[in-house]
Amino acid sequence: MAKYSIGILQGDDIGLEVVPVAVKVLQEAVDRYPGVKIDWLDLPIGYPSYLECGETMPQRTLDALYDLDGWFLGPIGHMAYPRDDPKAMNPHPFLRREFDLVSNIRPTKSFSSLPCLHQSVDLVIIRENNEGFQPDRNMFRGTAEYMPTPDLAMSVRVITRRNSEFAARTAFELARQRNSLKKVTAIHKNTVFKLGCGLFIDTCQEVAKEYPDIEFETMVVDTFAMALVMRPQKYDVVVSTNMFGDILTDEAAGLVGGLGMAPGLCVGPRYVMAQATHGSAPDIAGRHIANPYAMIMSGQMMLSWLGNKKGDGEAIQAARDIELGVGKVLDELAAVTPDLGGKASTGEMGEAVCAAMRNLPPGAGSIY
Ligand code: NAD
Repeated sequence: MAKYSIGILQGDDIGLEVVPVAVKVLQEAVDRYPGVKIDWLDLPIGYPSYLECGETMPQRTLDALYDLDGWFLGPIGHMAYPRDDPKAMNPHPFLRREFDLVSNIRPTKSFSSLPCLHQSVDLVIIRENNEGFQPDRNMFRGTAEYMPTPDLAMSVRVITRRNSEFAARTAFELARQRNSLKKVTAIHKNTVFKLGCGLFIDTCQEVAKEYPDIEFETMVVDTFAMALVMRPQKYDVVVSTNMFGDILTDEAAGLVGGLGMAPGLCVGPRYVMAQATHGSAPDIAGRHIANPYAMIMSGQMMLSWLGNKKGDGEAIQAARDIELGVGKVLDELAAVTPDLGGKASTGEMGEAVCAAMRNLPPGAGSIY
């Protein structure tokens, strides 16, 4: 029996709605396989935790995470946190850094039943997660943004060979696993950032030599931003530095139905965190209309990643079942949320995915 200990960190706003639905779907999937068991652990985080114990990132949550195989992190609505209280920190960059979650894997997939700007899109963007221009995580101490005078702001960008290599390796490994174009596209702007993007691209090129079976190309970020809108079908796995990746993944989500359709998985050498691309959507929170797809598929990727790590065929199969169940719900459109043109609540869409899985014969979907 393979056992997994997985944390549930709901986050804020719609996190309280989509995370429980994703947990339910994962549980339903593994219940189909007697050799897989998940021990769930609820842990406080975010604004609900601040109201309860005065901290958005309590020590007891942090201590517990070290012993887990992985966890769900719901969206964090940190823009609404009190600004002058250090105990109201934004937990997610901290977690990405603390647990060395270097690669953020963000797939973009179109469904022919949904109104998308493009059909036949199936690509994954790997975003380096912990450095680049992100000042809340790219320094050991202090912040990488500062104002020497009231009229001058400076931001330091950090690129290391180590994280560039990890992100590139994640991309090439994924390109090998996927049943797709077997191609990695590395995004840069080394025409201007000769040292930072230069180091990133040189490192990707070095890693590419170890994967002669995978086509490798590089593209300047502005050219790629346009190409992604015009011909997204040309891309398979894309790897980029942090801020370019952040922007490009939202752009890619826009091609296939919006942020509700954008799952994500943060991985490092040891830990894994399922975290959808979208934020806490305070504009729709409490109405139970948030699309749970992104969070369900983030969990699906986590289960698949853990199954692969432990060589657990049943967990991998359970993850494939989730993908098939979700695919069926999106094909039929009978129970989807309003952002996809339906009338279902978040919970009803999750229930429909569970029902679709119950009717599945043992199936075989792609890994991501
Ligand atoms: P957002 O992603 O929360 O929302 C943008 C738009 O997309 C909104 O109209 C929202 O209703 C919609 N949307 C998002 N997720 C959806 C879903 N699952 N189903 C249907 N519609 C969905 O971005 P924002 O409004 O700029 O930010 C809100 C808060 O979230 C802010 O505090 C921001 O800092 C934070 N944020 C957190 C994360 C994260 O935790 N990873 C990411 C981005 C933003």
